[in-house]
Amino acid sequence: MRCIAGTTVQGKRRAKSYKIHKVENVSKEEWIRVEGTHKPIVDKEIFEKAQELSKRDIKVSQRTKELSVWAGFLKCNDCGRAMNKKSSTNKSGNKYEYYICSTYRKKSKKLCTKHTIKQENLEKAVLKAINLHIDLLIDTEEMVKQINNSNFQNIKSENVENIIIAKQNEISKISNFKKTLYEDWKNEDITRDEYLEYKKKYENDIERLRQNIEVLQTEKQKYEIKNKSQSEWIERFRKQKGITELSRDILIELIDCIYVKENGDITIKFKFEDELKRYLEYIEYNKGALELDVKAV
Ligand SMILES: [Zn+2]
Repeated sequence: MRCIAGTTVQGKRRAKSYKIHKVENVSKEEWIRVEGTHKPIVDKEIFEKAQELSKRDIKVSQRTKELSVWAGFLKCNDCGRAMNKKSSTNKSGNKYEYYICSTYRKKSKKLCTKHTIKQENLEKAVLKAINLHIDLLIDTEEMVKQINNSNFQNIKSENVENIIIAKQNEISKISNFKKTLYEDWKNEDITRDEYLEYKKKYENDIERLRQNIEVLQTEKQKYEIKNKSQSEWIERFRKQKGITELSRDILIELIDCIYVKENGDITIKFKFEDELKRYLEYIEYNKGALELDVKAV
């Protein structure tokens, strides 16, 4: 999710249409670009509404007594400190607002650089990024549904489960051998050296099997999504699909943090990134199910 000097570059990695069933890297030519400028879309009414919404990192401008929509969300990508809002006038005499690294502005020009970004560019980039992120989530959810509706996922995890059971049976078998070994020695069927040698071998075998089972259990989890019907977090995003205006409540709902880089790029940390990662991994491990579906069509 980037914004390069007023140009939003999006979707470097996205889930392609679920008909194609792949999460893939998107070539540079396919990146979505949004250019041009338009008037700030966050008006006074939204500012006022935003004021009621959250007490999070409240910083009220002394001059306007308004809570910024972005308060607590914008951070300098290099020093990690908050960005400060400033205003300036361009050559044509029009006033515009921008953000600047607070370390650079308040502390020292040596400790950090400007990291400036115009508010209108920021708004455009974030709005576009949110909409594309929502599309990605909807595609992802659709793929997960297809996997869950296919037998593939069940077959895979059943196969792994069967191997685990076989290994556990082998452990009980070897444990029984180990028990009779002692009796064999006492009955003088085997020598003490033989007894010790076999005992060591059996113990090593059991340890190796236990490690195998541990690996298989991790493997098995990859084919399962716990609480797979629960995706309230996707619903939370879906509700905002097609938004054309930003508000503080939308930011609070969907975004953890927005990092501004020195060249004006932004990186958005969306909420529920761990869940998304888990879903994408799930799709990766179970993509065989999607390929099977394509063949069946
Ligand atoms: Zn900084």
